[in-house]
Amino acid sequence: MAEIETVGVVGAGTMGSGIAHVFARSGFRVLLHDVEQRFLDRALEHIRTNLGREAAKGKLQEAEIEPALARIYATTDRAALAGAEFAVEAVPERLELKAEILRALDELLPVDAILATNTSSMSITRLAALTERPTRVIGMHFFNPVPVMALVEVVRGLQTSDSTYATVYELATLLGKTPVKVNDAAGFVSNRVLMPLINEAAFAVMEGVAEPEAIDQVFKLGMAHPMGPLTLADFIGLDVCLDILRMLQEGIGDPKYRPCPLLVRMVDAGWLGRKSGRGFFRYES
Ligand code: NAD
Repeated sequence: MAEIETVGVVGAGTMGSGIAHVFARSGFRVLLHDVEQRFLDRALEHIRTNLGREAAKGKLQEAEIEPALARIYATTDRAALAGAEFAVEAVPERLELKAEILRALDELLPVDAILATNTSSMSITRLAALTERPTRVIGMHFFNPVPVMALVEVVRGLQTSDSTYATVYELATLLGKTPVKVNDAAGFVSNRVLMPLINEAAFAVMEGVAEPEAIDQVFKLGMAHPMGPLTLADFIGLDVCLDILRMLQEGIGDPKYRPCPLLVRMVDAGWLGRKSGRGFFRYES
């Protein structure tokens, strides 16, 4: 892709550091921006560790690690992003924050640059309309952990042009990912289909249909899922699952997305899954 050599990544957290990793590994120059140096330092440390893991697995040469890291320019200066031909934002899932970032990128980057968002739930159409370049705004929904997961949902807003879509599809392929085309709708495909499964599993627990272990066994052994829906819910975070269900309920307007009352109670209790030590299952650390 001759026209894109430098990419901007905004937000160096869980997703942004992974996104910077895969772009740098694939030969792109990366301008990685966050608000504080310590977040950038933490991200660079993660990227170094994860590149090392990939080398240990034979997925890349040991000698490729330092050049990949050297391609990442980490900065707290947002203005540095002006040098990018493409940018993806991975800041926290808050509308006013995403809006502010997208408007700033719109002002900073060249007029023909594409702006992507890694939002997991917001309307791409709505975010695009906040900029002066709605045809060049798109969803690029990576999955955690980014260096490992093959999927990228490439989400077309109502205004996204064919050429923007084609460029981002090709970009995802260059990263070694498998892009899947999705049109803009609440939850895209991933969360729209996954969250009702998790919610129904929570209803089954609440109604005493089966124990959590048994429900997960059904999916692992009967449907060849690598992990059951309740283990997955604990991994994602029950608070995150609840937020997404509420967003689906509001965005699609169908009562079938009504969050299970047990899920609501567990979140109220602070049982958020793996990160709090207790969800549908208990965790040691
Ligand atoms: P995170 O909290 O780990 O990271 C967000 C980063 O953004 C932080 O380092 C924060 O300091 C930085 N940030 C905040 N305000 C900023 C600003 N004004 N300018 C620059 N940086 C700023 O969050 P995350 O889990 O990486 O999620 C980021 C996005 O990716 C969200 O939209 C989320 O919905 C989406 N997403 C997350 C996952 C996941 O599994 N974590 C999966 C897919 C998509």
